[in-house]
Amino acid sequence: MTRITLKKRALETLRHANIGRINFQYGRLHVYPHQFARIAELIEADHISYRSANGNHYDPTPERGQRHYIGVHSSLGRDENGTLVAVNPFLPSSRGTIVHEACHATHDYQRVTVRHGDSILPRQFEGAATLAGWMTALLWGFDQAPSPQTDTMRLAAEKARLVLDGTIGPRIDADTVRELDAAVATGSANMYVFNGT
Ligand SMILES: [Zn+2]
Repeated sequence: MTRITLKKRALETLRHANIGRINFQYGRLHVYPHQFARIAELIEADHISYRSANGNHYDPTPERGQRHYIGVHSSLGRDENGTLVAVNPFLPSSRGTIVHEACHATHDYQRVTVRHGDSILPRQFEGAATLAGWMTALLWGFDQAPSPQTDTMRLAAEKARLVLDGTIGPRIDADTVRELDAAVATGSANMYVFNGT
């Protein structure tokens, strides 16, 4: 049995025509298709790699020039050689995770800074990534039942649907940004600061 590596699934996702639909401005952050093409190049060159983690996150390295990692939940699978493989079927929500973390990688590589005075806060990075991730899941046919389970997931899925059908965006209104920002959980601001190359 041939198993598809997570890397291959990530490249396939980030280079899929669906990604052309993910194009919006969220507060002062921009999310647009070319960013994902660039992240795909970095993944293909192994400058960004995936590793199994307790939860999903983007993990900037502390030293310039070192490899960056995207941690994906261990349930995504690993073969006998330790290579991360895509579980079958590869769920729309897993595509969403790929795009969510690619958003964090993008803003990191673009050196978008987290400055309270300029109003880009950790929650805004998380809000933008969450919206892009849910747009992705929906574009791949995410089925509402039995998920999403949490209020945050339900809210993000609903907003993503409104962006995709053109009801809101491409410049996301301030009320929606505030609502999503308030709902998402974030790690430390350092997670979003560029410190590699
Ligand atoms: Zn995130």
